[in-house]
Amino acid sequence: MDKKELFERIKADGVKFVSYQFSDVTGRVKSVDAPVARLEEALDDGVWFDGSSVEGFMRIQESDMHLIVDTDSYAVLPWTPAENKRARFFCDIFTPDGEPFDGDPRGILKSWMKKLDEKGWVYNVGPEPEFFLFLQNDHIHPVPHDVGGYFDFSSNDSAAQVRAELVDALNSMGLEVEFAHHEVALGQHEIDFRFADALKTADNVMTLKYTVKAIAAQHGLIASFMPKPIFGINGSGMHCHQSIFDKSGKNLFFDAKDEFHLSKLAYGFIAGQLSHAKALSAIVAPTVNSYKRLVPGYEAPVYIGWAQINRSALIRIPRYTVGKDKAMRAELRCPDPSSNPYLAFSAMIAAALDGIDNGLTPPKALNNVNIYDLSSEERVTRGIDSLPGSLKDALLELAADDVVKNSIGTKLFSAFFRAKEEEWEDYRIHVTDWEVENYLMGA
Ligand code: GLU
Ligand code: MG
Repeated sequence: MDKKELFERIKADGVKFVSYQFSDVTGRVKSVDAPVARLEEALDDGVWFDGSSVEGFMRIQESDMHLIVDTDSYAVLPWTPAENKRARFFCDIFTPDGEPFDGDPRGILKSWMKKLDEKGWVYNVGPEPEFFLFLQNDHIHPVPHDVGGYFDFSSNDSAAQVRAELVDALNSMGLEVEFAHHEVALGQHEIDFRFADALKTADNVMTLKYTVKAIAAQHGLIASFMPKPIFGINGSGMHCHQSIFDKSGKNLFFDAKDEFHLSKLAYGFIAGQLSHAKALSAIVAPTVNSYKRLVPGYEAPVYIGWAQINRSALIRIPRYTVGKDKAMRAELRCPDPSSNPYLAFSAMIAAALDGIDNGLTPPKALNNVNIYDLSSEERVTRGIDSLPGSLKDALLELAADDVVKNSIGTKLFSAFFRAKEEEWEDYRIHVTDWEVENYLMGA
C-alpha cells in the first residue's frame, strides 16, 4: 500500500495509536506503541527498540533492533474504543547494519517464500485453528463456556453470538473467514479463513489468536489455544491444508491422470513431510501440552502415514471434486495453535522440499483403515511409525534432523531449542495432580 493511500485510510478509520508488532521465537506477539502523529517518521526511518529482553534475541550486542514497517499488514484493532482507536502493522526486524536479523521468525519464513519465488512457486497454507472459550475462574481447572457439541446450533446460544462477533472482527481485519463452527468438545470452536501464501497466513494466524482473545475478554471469557486443556475430551489442533501453485495460480499438486489426482510434486511433498514428521513435531507441536493432544481416540494424529479421507492419518488428502483442481491439497494434522506459525510453516516447507528435491515417494496410502484400531504388531507389519510421545522425544528427533533443524536457521534454532529444553526441564521436575492421586496413599 502506498503512503498516500495509507494515510487516507488511517484518517477515515479515526486511528489515534499505532502498534508496531513482531514475533518472538515462541510466537508471542511483541508490540511497540506510538501515537499516529509519529507514523510518517516510522515509515521513513523505521522504529528502534531494545531487543535484549526479547526471547530469542538475547545477546547484548544485538540489543539495538530496527523495525521496518510492512504497510500491507495495516489493520485496525476492532475492539479498541473509538476515542483511542488503534491500528497495527507487522514489522520486519533488521540489525543496526541494515541486515535482516536472523533471529526474526517472520524474516525466516520470508526467506523461504523468496527461495520458492525463484523457482516460480507459491506455498499456500489454509489452517484450521481450534480453541476453547472458558468462563473466568481460578484458571487452574478450566470450565467450558457452553455445553454445545460438533456443529451444534441453537438460536439463543451465547457462544454463537461471540463467534459471530469474532467472525465480524476477523473479516474487518482482512481474514476472509470461510467457516466458523462449534467443535466436538464443550466450549470448543473452530474458525477457518481463506488460504493464502504461507507468510500472509502466518500473519493471519497471529491476528486470529489475539483477536479471539481480546473479543472473548470483552465477554468476560478466556479464549485458549492450549492444545489439550482438559483430559479425556478433544484437544485443539491447527490442521494445515497445503499446496504449491505456480505464479499463474495453477495448482501444481493436481494431476488428472493419477488415481488420487496428485502430481509427482505432491507425492514428493507428502513423502518429505512424512519422512521428517518426528522432528517436524517439535516445531509444529512445540509445547509439553501438545503431546497430551497427540494421543489415540480424539481425532488428532498419532501414526505417521497418509490417506484420502481417513482422519486418523497424519496427512489427509481431501476427496477431489471434478473441476476443483485448485482445491487439491495435503492436510497436515499434527500442528497445533501453540506453535509459532512462522517457524512451523518454514519447517513444513523445508521438509516437503527435501522430499520433492530427492524424488521421494510416500508409502502406500492408509485408506479404509482406522489406524487407531490396529494392534502394535499390525502397525509394525505395515511399517507404520508413531509421532514422538513427548516434547522431550520430539526435541531429540529435532536435534538429529538436519533438514528441519536448518529450516529455521542457526540462531532461531538455538534460541528455540534452549527455550524448549528449559520448558521440558521445568515440567519434568514438577509434581502433577496425577502423581499425587496415584502415589500419595499407596506409597
Ligand atoms: N480437535 C481435533 C484435533 O485435535 C480435530 C477435530 C477435527 O477433525 O476437526 O486435531
Ligand atoms: Mg476441526
